[in-house]
Amino acid sequence: MNLELSEEQTAVRQLARDFVEREIAPHAAAWDRAEEVDRGIVKKLGEVGFLGLTVDEEYGGSGGDHLAYCLVTEELGRGDSSVRGIVSVSLGLVAKTVAAWGSEEQKRRWLPGLVSGAYVGCFGLTEPGTGSDAGRLATRAVRDGGDYVINGTKMFITNGTWADVVLLFARSTDAPGHKGVSAFLVPADTPGLTRRTVHGKLGLRGQATAELVFQDVRVPASALLGEEGRGFSVAMSALAKGRMSVAAGCVGIAQAALDAAVAYAGQREQFGKSIAHHQLVQELISDMAVDVDAARLLTWRVADLIDRGRPFAVESSKAKLFASEAAVRAANNALQVFGGYGYIDEYPVGKLLRDARVMTLYEGTSQIQKLVIGRALTGVSAF
Ligand code: FAD
Repeated sequence: MNLELSEEQTAVRQLARDFVEREIAPHAAAWDRAEEVDRGIVKKLGEVGFLGLTVDEEYGGSGGDHLAYCLVTEELGRGDSSVRGIVSVSLGLVAKTVAAWGSEEQKRRWLPGLVSGAYVGCFGLTEPGTGSDAGRLATRAVRDGGDYVINGTKMFITNGTWADVVLLFARSTDAPGHKGVSAFLVPADTPGLTRRTVHGKLGLRGQATAELVFQDVRVPASALLGEEGRGFSVAMSALAKGRMSVAAGCVGIAQAALDAAVAYAGQREQFGKSIAHHQLVQELISDMAVDVDAARLLTWRVADLIDRGRPFAVESSKAKLFASEAAVRAANNALQVFGGYGYIDEYPVGKLLRDARVMTLYEGTSQIQKLVIGRALTGVSAF
């Protein structure tokens, strides 16, 4: 793998850096306090092409490789994880999945809107009773003539209240376990679908996280994404790439924490010199720097494997596991460097820590990533 970025990749990263400095960073703290990102940011992300990365230009996408996608995602994560997550879900989990599994009609119907920012997508897998063991989900889609009628509840759905389309996973046959699960593209204005905002999150407060309740929601059979009974494969393939995107966002958090800590350590004086002079402060900073590099390299390796058409799912779990834990460690170290000032929200590091914390939970907890890696090494499924 060539670790040198191409001219095009360097330009995309710079574009993302400038965009974040101009459109996101100045507002991140206010959006966090208001518990809502300004929705206008979605259209701007679409205009600059960030919602169409890796998607074919034929459907309005901006093309590019997965390394470019990681570079942009890292920059977004550096600016505001709430915004990064909106992109990772609407593009990473929904648009890219429609591009990979959708019929021609589904691609034409949904992709141009999703990649331009006219539409927002959400990914409805988790339910109140099933998180890690997603294959046992209980939402049902019952065939009725040319339609399916859907009943059930989805929980913690990122972009849920904003979404125009739900990529929904529901049980549509009596086949045991995850074999009975199918994927559907459900327009969010379909009668019978109600949404409730989940309030009181520790972090990612700017995101519209929701509970979705489906009560006799009727969709035509053409809403089925992929074959009936293949829904769990659709979900797992989406999450395998999604974990790379979460990892890239975590690199951004860790980099932001490192930058803030280095700058603060150079200014803050204690014992007659800047705290950068104290060896134990340098230890905090150097640990962060190693975490940033290691997380970034693991993440880039996943992008490289995808771009070369090689298997990548286990490497994606490794990157997500390491980068999410590294982001929490780095944000916590930065808070330590800031001392008491790190604990108040006038300074950015508290938000970094709050935002980082969920990264070890969603798209598979750290324990679940370890089981994925362990299964690949031992051949034993220990779930
Ligand atoms: P549980 O599965 O109940 O796990 C609880 C604990 O048990 C964890 O520590 C877990 O690691 C451990 N555990 C479970 N099984 C095992 C095992 N076999 N071995 C060892 N330990 C185990 N979901 C979506 O579908 N779409 C979204 O857009 C989305 N966005 C989210 C946004 C936020 C802010 C949050 C908080 C969650 C989101 N989720 C979303 C849900 C998320 O993916 C789940 O919360 C996650 O998968 C964990 O499920 P759970 O919360 O039910 O925890």
